[in-house]
Amino acid sequence: MSEYAGPESVKTEEPLCPCGSDKSHSDCCGPFIQRIVKPSTAEALMRSRYSAYVMNTIDYLEETTHPKSRNRDTRRELENTLSEIGWIGLRVTGVVGGGPSDKSGKVSLVADYIVGGSPKSHRERSRFKRYRGEWKYLDDQGSQEEMDGSD
Ligand SMILES: [Zn+2]
Repeated sequence: MSEYAGPESVKTEEPLCPCGSDKSHSDCCGPFIQRIVKPSTAEALMRSRYSAYVMNTIDYLEETTHPKSRNRDTRRELENTLSEIGWIGLRVTGVVGGGPSDKSGKVSLVADYIVGGSPKSHRERSRFKRYRGEWKYLDDQGSQEEMDGSD
């Protein structure tokens, strides 16, 4: 009873989602990355992008980058990042806006990873904006200028 079992399959036997939600992947970021449903919140998009990083799904990362922030280097930069980094985990440390009825939102996060054998943490204050109704990643507003203090 492994193989493909569809969305109605037994939840408890499935691997947990890489985004750290404690839900199975098919109950969390999976349907977003497979483009079955669209994330309704900026946080959901951010989590699914993290999972896409872990799973090397470059197409999804490229697609969910806001057209304003996407350029011809985007894909190569993503490929470089993905080839160098081993992801350990994600923590969401703050959310501003980004709800089902919002047009923009910010999500503060800490992503732990390994590069060159050393563990590191990447702090980011991601900005998200709707584009044609869908949440897209706009940019990293930076963590230095505005440290949350909550940690
Ligand atoms: Zn997830």
